[in-house]
Amino acid sequence: MSDLLRAHTAAHDPDCIFCKIVAKQIPSGIVYEDEEIFAFHDIHPWAPVHFLLIPKMHIPSMAQVGPDQAGLLGRMMALAPKLALEQGCNPYPEGGYRMLTNTGREGGQEVQHLHFHVMGGPRPWLRG
Ligand code: C5P
Repeated sequence: MSDLLRAHTAAHDPDCIFCKIVAKQIPSGIVYEDEEIFAFHDIHPWAPVHFLLIPKMHIPSMAQVGPDQAGLLGRMMALAPKLALEQGCNPYPEGGYRMLTNTGREGGQEVQHLHFHVMGGPRPWLRG
């Protein structure tokens, strides 16, 4: 792990709302969980299907990700299409899903725990 990442990450940040969701101190609509990855329904969905895919480890954003996290991020990317279908997205290519991550204030990030929005379902959606 890089020094930069070590300085900004922890297994659990007690002040982080998504860490509290992972720890089930705050209830959420759980979509998926394993040892290192968690997914739950966004409380303010922008699309018919909208869930957040997050690492359980407290990584603030993509700005703190380095080569040591390539495996974890790869597993998250590979999980997304399976979860999207399970949650009601239609199959590719007519269906599919949008996956995005906001990074930093100017990138529109509101919660400082790395998360990927996974959105899909029949258009039009509220945003974009
Ligand atoms: O990318 P950004 O940080 O702006 O997105 C945060 C997302 O987390 C929002 O879509 C918001 O609705 C969601 N959220 C949630 N449950 C919470 C707090 C925020 O689903 N308790």
